[in-house]
Amino acid sequence: MKSYLLDSLENLFQHLAVSHKMFEPQSIPGSEDLHWLPSPKGPTSRYGTSKQVLPLAPAKGFLFPERELLFRFDGQTFIETLPEVAPQVLFGLQSCDLCAIAYQDQFFRQDSYYLARRKATILVGFDCLTPCDGGFCSTVDAGPFVRDGSADLILHPKGNEWLLIPASEQGLNAIQTLNLPPAPAEWRAEREQQQAEVAKMFPTDSHIRTGIERINQATISAEQWQRLGLQCLTCSGCTSLCPTCSCFTTFDTKTEGESNTFVRERCWDSCLYEAFQRETSGHNPSKEAGERLQRYWFHKFSDHYVDEFGRYGCIGCGRCEETCPGGIGVHSIMRRLEKES
Ligand code: SF4
Ligand code: SF4
Repeated sequence: MKSYLLDSLENLFQHLAVSHKMFEPQSIPGSEDLHWLPSPKGPTSRYGTSKQVLPLAPAKGFLFPERELLFRFDGQTFIETLPEVAPQVLFGLQSCDLCAIAYQDQFFRQDSYYLARRKATILVGFDCLTPCDGGFCSTVDAGPFVRDGSADLILHPKGNEWLLIPASEQGLNAIQTLNLPPAPAEWRAEREQQQAEVAKMFPTDSHIRTGIERINQATISAEQWQRLGLQCLTCSGCTSLCPTCSCFTTFDTKTEGESNTFVRERCWDSCLYEAFQRETSGHNPSKEAGERLQRYWFHKFSDHYVDEFGRYGCIGCGRCEETCPGGIGVHSIMRRLEKES
């Protein structure tokens, strides 16, 4: 696909804003954390060579909301409640979070609620020129530069200008009327070389590699999992912030004042909850905390899921490390697995 020279990020942003609702990661007063928020004025100035900072929460809630109406029943008929989503742009996604959306695209490929949101969404990704704190995307093939097929538009900084790569038909259509000049021919090759250089800036990842090996070789005893599992406070911070976690539960609520009508909704669930796999009979295949923790990390790093999804279920964002009050986020747990092997 062709690539273009963009001299002003502002121009691209305003062009997309004519027909789309714009969202980008922004800080709120009193906090340095970034949050995905509507951005009618954007773009912020943090793109380009400034240090990479991931938004506190990933963008998954735009496509798979924490709580969502599935259908209504009026006593006789089931009434579909597919969401009506105005065209939107997620502007400023890093490669790791884009890989997570590509992962979710596969998981939800037959889910009409997810697809209604996904079809209305343009993904604008930026290459990362520095590692973010706690990130290890290069270890799990999720960055630091945006992967082909994961975004609609890819932006790569070139001094005060940008290499703009339309990476999907939707992306190409979105910029067609901007009439941008082609990018210098050598920029694509230079981008490839630079990615290898940025990947070398990441800190040592031997604990992650050893942990992945131990999980796949099943050399972690039930006792070791249980010792680690006892540190889980069942807060669901990890599963809520993990951009690839997609488990949900459903529940029905009677509509107030109407005897035979109800609505069915779904909401995020967490495999770290004791009742996650509990059956009506009372049988629970993951009754012990260690069993639940083992299940979670198996879903993130098992080769089994590489066969199914083409990649690990972890995209190396480090959010679980940041949030876990029990000290068993990804770096902590992988260091323990390395040390206690
Ligand atoms: S963030 Fe930590 S304490 Fe909370 S559910 Fe996850 S593993 Fe357990
Ligand atoms: S397991 Fe942790 S590091 Fe991996 S994608 Fe999920 S939140 Fe990020």
